[in-house]
Amino acid sequence: MLEYDVVVVGGGPAGCMAAKYAAKEGVSTLILEEDPAIGEPVQCAGLISKRAIEESEIKNSKSFINCELRGAIIHSHSHAIKIESPSSEKRAFAIRRDIFDKELAEAALNEGVDIILKSRVKGVKRRGEKAKLIIMDATAASTREINAKVVIGADGARSVVANIAGLKVAKNFLNCVQIEGAYEVEEAVAEIFVGKSIAPGFFAWAIPIGKNTARVGLCIDKRVSPHPNPLRFLKRNLSEHPVIAKKYKGTRSNFTAGIIPIPGGAGIGQRRRIVKMVNGVGMLLVGDAAAQVKPITGGGVYYGMKCGKIAGEIAAKACLEGDMEVLREYEKGCCEEIGKEIAFGLKVHRLRCVLSDDDFDKICHALSKYDMMQLIANRGDMDYQSFVFRELLKKPSIIKLIARSIIRYLYAKRKIR
Ligand SMILES: Cc1cc2nc3c(=O)[nH]c(=O)nc-3n(C[C@H](O)[C@H](O)[C@H](O)COP(=O)(O)OP(=O)(O)OC[C@H]3O[C@@H](n4cnc5c(N)ncnc54)[C@H](O)[C@@H]3O)c2cc1C
Repeated sequence: MLEYDVVVVGGGPAGCMAAKYAAKEGVSTLILEEDPAIGEPVQCAGLISKRAIEESEIKNSKSFINCELRGAIIHSHSHAIKIESPSSEKRAFAIRRDIFDKELAEAALNEGVDIILKSRVKGVKRRGEKAKLIIMDATAASTREINAKVVIGADGARSVVANIAGLKVAKNFLNCVQIEGAYEVEEAVAEIFVGKSIAPGFFAWAIPIGKNTARVGLCIDKRVSPHPNPLRFLKRNLSEHPVIAKKYKGTRSNFTAGIIPIPGGAGIGQRRRIVKMVNGVGMLLVGDAAAQVKPITGGGVYYGMKCGKIAGEIAAKACLEGDMEVLREYEKGCCEEIGKEIAFGLKVHRLRCVLSDDDFDKICHALSKYDMMQLIANRGDMDYQSFVFRELLKKPSIIKLIARSIIRYLYAKRKIR
């Protein structure tokens, strides 16, 4: 029977990074991935920051970058504001997630990690001082067992490991759809479309990925949507939205449907339960499995890699010291890194859920004032969004607008936890 110190379930960005950092510390590490190839199928718009690319530690970023984006245009029902990045440091990138994930896996392999594809983990049992993973092959024709000291659940939003550990981190899921298609790309900027009729509870996007091609998609929050199927909104946007329908040229490929976890509020200290000890055997969650995503934009690649590094290092430390209690440090480390951002992002998400199309219009109009645009351009940060949102919420014109929605917000706070 195979034996490893650390077994990582899932070969996405969070899992590859966790495995790489565990192996770097010198412990034997295995990634189990259910799909036949790392990075496929893709369920991502592929918009990440320059910081995220640096965090990936991939040297040859040219291999996966579709294009560099110089800013964003936010469209409400009757306004559009353009935010341009003042420096190259602030720019974002549209990337090919299939290649990006493969590069991350390659880096893990180079550190000595083993990867077994077409292996779906369906159970984790205790055996003595170790966990016994029950693995089913892709055809479900056979099962086998692998022993591990620590199991890292990096198996995405529908995490089996989270279920087995009894850790319910995500309280809600956004439902998302996206296509790639011919689209009039005037300049290299991402377009964001807000409004209850366009993407209830979230937003729609068009991300250029090359000359006259874009990823066009959206997410909805079912709790505030008149219809639970996001495809209905995508079809309508492609055929009727005044901007999207005009720019979209009718071809479509790479249809994607997926979910994004929205974490539940963590309460005092914002520390989430993402570590479980079952009779001394350690299990911890990372990435989407731990709902480590930005509630404002749904982006999870950067936080997943960031927390993956912490998970790998701490899992290795627990194995080397022979003390599973060490794993508790992981919750603290993640909380320090992203706890406050997620907690603040949840408030913004709840607020967005109660705003009407008219509210979005008024907010866009208010944001178009010079001082606000300067603040967003200079201090806006894709990965750490709370600073600029906090500053905007101090502006009298925004306070006035938000105050009108406060009753709805407080009501939603109970309903949309
Ligand atoms: C439509 C859409 C657009 C998005 N756009 C962006 C974006 O622009 N920027 C951004 O930062 N984020 C975006 N995200 C979110 C981003 O895709 C995720 O946050 C990110 O992929 C999380 O990485 P992960 O490694 O935690 O999980 P994943 O990338 O989901 O990887 C999990 C892996 O685990 C495997 N797995 C699952 N269960 C098992 C099992 N039982 N046994 C073995 N293997 C298993 C899966 O096959 C998968 O390979 C988007 C998400 C969606 C749905």
